[in-house]
This record gives sequence, C-alpha cells and structure tokens, in this order.
Amino acid sequence: DNGLSEADPEVRAIIDMEKQRQFKSLELIASENFTYRAVMEAVGSCLTNKYSEGLPGKRYYGGNEHIDELETLCQKRALDAFHLDGKKWGVNVQPLSGSPANFEVYTAILKPHDRLMGLDLSHGGHLSHGFMTPKRRVSGTSIYFESMSYRLNESTGLVDYDKLEEMADRFKPKLIIAGASAYPRDFDYPRMRKIADSVGAFLMMDMAHISGLVAASVLANPFDYCDIVTTTTHKSLRGPRGGMIFFKKETVLGVDLETAINNAVFPGLQGGPHNHTIGGLAVCLKYAQSPEFKAYQNQVVSNCRALASRLTELGYKLVSGGSDNHLVLVDLRPLGIDGARVEKILDMASITLNKNSVPADKSAVVPGGIRIGSPAMTTRGFTEKEFVAVADYIHEGVQITIDAKRAASGSKLQDFMKFVASPEFSLKDRVSD
Ligand code: PLP
Repeated sequence: DNGLSEADPEVRAIIDMEKQRQFKSLELIASENFTYRAVMEAVGSCLTNKYSEGLPGKRYYGGNEHIDELETLCQKRALDAFHLDGKKWGVNVQPLSGSPANFEVYTAILKPHDRLMGLDLSHGGHLSHGFMTPKRRVSGTSIYFESMSYRLNESTGLVDYDKLEEMADRFKPKLIIAGASAYPRDFDYPRMRKIADSVGAFLMMDMAHISGLVAASVLANPFDYCDIVTTTTHKSLRGPRGGMIFFKKETVLGVDLETAINNAVFPGLQGGPHNHTIGGLAVCLKYAQSPEFKAYQNQVVSNCRALASRLTELGYKLVSGGSDNHLVLVDLRPLGIDGARVEKILDMASITLNKNSVPADKSAVVPGGIRIGSPAMTTRGFTEKEFVAVADYIHEGVQITIDAKRAASGSKLQDFMKFVASPEFSLKDRVSD
C-alpha cells in the first residue's frame, strides 16, 4: 500500500499548501486551534477501519474488545478532565461534532415542536440553538422545534437575563440553552438555573467555545447548574474534530437523561462511532488534565485581555467593553467600515479572523464587527507581547480598509459594484448556460 505522495500527489499537494497556509498565517479564528501531534497520530490510525455501533460491552458487531477499552478510557478521561463524579454524571463521546451533539440532545429530551430558547445568532449564539429569521426557519432546530431567541442588552453587550426571564415566563420553553459562539463574557448559570426552574425547563450549556477554559477552571463551572452540557472537542479544548454530551445520571422532568441521550445518539441519529476521533479525543483529554494545559488556558485568557486592552487603547469599541474569555468582538460601525471588508484585507496579509454580527447590526452578510480569538496563536507560543503586536497589525489593516473605501468612493468601480448589488441587476438574465 502506497503512502499519500505516491498514491495521490494531487491531494498531497493540497495538504502541503494548507499546511503552509496554517504555518504562515496569524490564525485568529476563535473556534480554531492546532491540535497535538499525538492526537493527529491517533486520528490517522487503524481505528478508522472499525465498526462499533452501540456502547462499550453492548455492540452490534464483533471484534470490539480494543474499541471497548478505548471508548471506556475516553469516557473516564472526559469525566476526569471536567472534575466530574462518575456516579452523578455520564458522558457520550460519540457525537460526530457540535451541531449533531446539540440536535441529539433536543431529540432526546423534547418532543417535535416543543419549545426552546437559545441566544440569538446575531447576538453571539450558534445556528444550532434555534436560529430563524422572520421569513425562514434556517436551522434544523427551528424547523423541528419552536424556537424563541433571547438576546443581549444592546447597551451593555451582556446577556439580558431580566428580559430572558420575562420572555421565558410568556413562552414557557421546555429547554433553555446557555452558551455561544461569539460572546466575550461568562454565563450567569445560577440565574439561568433559576429561570429554567421557574418555568419547568431543562437547562443545557453548550460550552463548545470555552470547554478548554472550563476544564482548566479558568471560567465558571456549568456542571454545578446544568442538566446537560455539550461541547465540540476541537476549539479551546484542542482535540480532534468531534463532540461530547455530558448528562446528569438522573431522571429530570420525567426523562431518564442517560438512556434518552445514549439512544438519541445511536440509533436515533448516528450509526457507527468514529473510533479514530474517539482515540484522538482520549489523547487530548489526557493532556487536558496536565499542569501545562492549565497554564496554556490561563495564557489564552491573558493574551485575550492584552489584545482587548491594546484595541481599546487604539480607540476601538469592544462589545461588552472587553473580554473574560478567549475572544473579543470589535464593533467597527463607529469607524464607518464593516467586518466583511476588514476580514478580506487582513486575509491578504495572512491574518485570519472572521466578520461577525454585533448587537443591533443591520446585515448578517456585511456585518459590522470582527471576532478575534486567542487559542490558536497561544498554542503557537504567543504571549501578551505578541498579542499587543497583533492588535497593532489589525489596526493597520482597518486603516488600510478605511483608506481603500474612501479612495473607491465616487469611482466608476464603486458605481459598478453598487449596480451589481442592486435589484435591477439580475445575474440570471445575463449568463447563458
Ligand atoms: N456550538 C457552538 C457554541 C459553536 O460555536 C459551534 C461551532 O462553531 C458549534 C456548536 C457547532 O460545532 P460543529 O461545527 O462542530 O458542528
């Protein structure tokens, strides 16, 4: 059997180019990271060959003695990494990623069209928390369940818990979801628990972005207050791409969470587990219990604070005024520029971050902000000093974007772009098949 270079030079070349891109760029996407070499080894191993539908000791295929050992080890490490007592909490390590993990929870504990509340996408929530527009039910969550999003207080940039309480009282959701993709602060779990209890709802935390910070006890512990906690494994946790669902080993609101969640993962929504991912995850969860991991997570937060304070010094408006975690959200609207243009310009300079909506934004396609995260470059050894320099580079990129926009204004090119964006211009009419 040949190696990749011989078997498929085309794919080899693409991988090499992507490796170069990752190596050469400043990776500031808050949901990305560089995983460990040992994780990559496990993910690229023979574990990928094996079918193992079911759970350890209860499989639908033979030959699973080693896979059983692996998955049991992975489950134990997952509970240990988050300081959980295996008598009170259980975990399913088979979800293929974060969105499937969330949908598996919904189908486990809700009936079709039951009600749920998550943070609005344009205020930092994730699609899988029930996103819909006034015209369209965009995510599967909002198609199969009835969703009403809660939001941030637009002046403070913090979750508006008073409003959430008021809305929950009227909407009577069965599930309230904490967690976000673009929220620079921590969640008030005691308050959310109180709101959930007042309406008889489950409380779930999707800690995908911050699971590394939670494991290192750098942020508040959601397990003290939530019934269920989901996560991806490839963001601040620094593992392979995957997902996990932690559940209380209790019957909550008439649902035996362990049985319902395990059945929702398989046979409900998935087939064979990705054992290579479970292998990589077990490795990552071993690292997650080391003193070096704790030091790394502390550095992630210190770096983010250094970035936030330098940006503030440079006059930028940050949503919520700063950051407690691994990301900052910069509101560019006061500068008359949008996040899409800045993302593009910085991309040309090998600085990778993403455009992001900010509270009270007008457009999701051309949003008014950028999201900047510290996990990936912290993995590559950056400290506060380098993150101050990163803020300066971003500032330069923003200035170039502003200058370019000014230079283009009134130009023929600008007029043409406006025309292309206008309703009079229909691409369909002008392109023949
Ligand atoms: N939950 C949150 C809070 C996320 O930010 C994300 C992804 O960014 C997900 C879930 C979905 O994860 P995946 O992309 O692995 O489906």
